[in-house]
Amino acid sequence: MSGLTFTAAAPEPITRIENVGVVGAGQMGRGIAQVFASSGFPVVMADVSEAALANGLKMVDRDMQRRVDRGQMTAEDRDEARARISTTIDHAAFADCDLVIEAVSENEGLKNAIFKSVSAHVKPSTILASNTSSISVTRLAAATDRPERFIGIHFMNPAPVMKLVEVTRGLPTDEATYQSVAALAERIGKRLVASADTPAFIVNRILIPMINEAVYALYEGVGDILAIDSAMKLGANHPMGPFELADYIGLDTCLAVMRVLHDELGDSKYRPCPLLAKYVDANWLGKKTGRGFYDYTASPARPTR
Ligand code: NAD
Repeated sequence: MSGLTFTAAAPEPITRIENVGVVGAGQMGRGIAQVFASSGFPVVMADVSEAALANGLKMVDRDMQRRVDRGQMTAEDRDEARARISTTIDHAAFADCDLVIEAVSENEGLKNAIFKSVSAHVKPSTILASNTSSISVTRLAAATDRPERFIGIHFMNPAPVMKLVEVTRGLPTDEATYQSVAALAERIGKRLVASADTPAFIVNRILIPMINEAVYALYEGVGDILAIDSAMKLGANHPMGPFELADYIGLDTCLAVMRVLHDELGDSKYRPCPLLAKYVDANWLGKKTGRGFYDYTASPARPTR
């Protein structure tokens, strides 16, 4: 018998999250801010510039107005929800937040820098989360000052509409952090699916290679953009064709996810299609830049090939 004795550490308490911070006012950040504000949470939304924040708020206003027009929300609820969102370019505004979710571009170095800056301003108990589509939660967690209170919370696009949140524990994530986030998901009316911390998790492990395969089909002349989109909508009952969906997600995000899959799983089946990379090189990133596989400056949108 060894003389060693082990005692279990006291479990960390579950955090009841009341104040939420979001970094990034792009399509995901502003959607996540809207979800929390509409569920009664005060939200601080940050971005790099006042212009980016103003654009984010404009899109929130547009979406909420659409909901009012469709009778899905009252004008009073809209005004109350909107008043719960404050904006900042200074991470010091996150001081009271119990949870800060990062939703900036899919770039690991940028995300690490954001968490370093945010950590300097928040409470030791604050949970940090990433909305990453593909990057290792374990690695992001390990680069912070609180790996045990770090977790992946992957909202789907558009966040106010899609029911799922995919939640990923990194190796160091503690049970209390997971339980705090699970309770939160219920309070904002989302269904949680837990994914293992593997590249691109569940949804994008399956979805983005399908989009990449559609780009290969285009590249190899199997069909043009309209033919491939129509085939998948009419033949596979997909609500959007792969090129419509890729433009909606953002081609930079699709390419970044394929690169993570290819680099980390080392399987040639994840090779990003050179044509996808070429569209990103041209800054044809999809709807957000006005042109991707479709040209949205034309009405109706026209395929680019
Ligand atoms: P986006 O390009 O629409 O927005 C990114 C935002 O980050 C921009 O507003 C940009 O100004 C901001 N930003 C850049 N550097 C910053 C900094 N230093 N500080 C603060 N803000 C900064 O991108 P997106 O589609 O919203 O994606 C954001 C994240 O969400 C990515 O990790 C992406 O993989 C993930 N995601 C995207 C989707 C999708 O369908 N687009 C779905 C789920 C998750």
